[in-house]
Amino acid sequence: MKKPLRLAVTGAAGRMGRRVAALAREDPRFAVAALVDRISGPGLLAPDGLPQALGAADVLVDFSTPEAAVRFAGMAAQTRMAAVIGTTGFTPVALAQLKAAARRIPIFLSPNFSPGVHALGILARAAATLLKDYEIAISETHHSHKQDAPSGTALRLARIVMEVRRGGAPAIVSQRLGDVVGDHTVTLAGPCERLELTHRAQSRDVFARGALRAALWVAGKKPGLYDMPDLLAAK
Ligand code: NAD
Repeated sequence: MKKPLRLAVTGAAGRMGRRVAALAREDPRFAVAALVDRISGPGLLAPDGLPQALGAADVLVDFSTPEAAVRFAGMAAQTRMAAVIGTTGFTPVALAQLKAAARRIPIFLSPNFSPGVHALGILARAAATLLKDYEIAISETHHSHKQDAPSGTALRLARIVMEVRRGGAPAIVSQRLGDVVGDHTVTLAGPCERLELTHRAQSRDVFARGALRAALWVAGKKPGLYDMPDLLAAK
């Protein structure tokens, strides 16, 4: 049997980190080598323990904050290991730092690990191409603890639509309420009709499973930045 992929999970005490660790523990393809968080707790390492812990891991999986994720990606680059980064809300400067790290190691960076959201992007592109004169808007709803707005996924959907449309960016409306895991709708409105393409995540496990799938896929790849289209296009 193949050796399990050893994961170092950062942001391990958070909503996403906990699910990634739990699902990895249930799956013989993975071994949890280190759980790192700024919050202390049973089994959790402090961030300054990460460089040493990375020596016993194959892939870093991060769901923390943009500042922490950039720092952790730098540590992974020094160790020459792969990284999966699910954190969102990066500034252009932080993104440039991640791109610099990706010159040394493979980094799978995605604002959304759900296959359904990837399909939503493809459908939105097709609809924006077909319905050339229709106005487009994007709306997203997430739980009230989410830090960034608009969501990384909404920004990604806006970019996809702008690739096939001239003119300004579509309006994005963000709502933060309750415990909504993540809803995104792309609306195209024209004379006497409206097309709404909606994705709703029902559980964080869809993202956690996607991140684990990305970890298996990115380990051993050449340095570079990868995202869901690369993984889903792969045979
Ligand atoms: P969360 O607040 O529940 O968890 C974040 C964790 O990171 C917390 O436990 C926090 O203590 C820890 N943390 C913060 N700073 C740290 C530091 N310096 N060192 C170590 N740990 C630190 O948030 P969440 O809901 O789990 O989301 C985390 C990130 O993932 C957000 O950016 C969110 O938008 C993103 N997200 C991405 C996807 C995806 O599919 N890519 C899905 C859901 C959430």
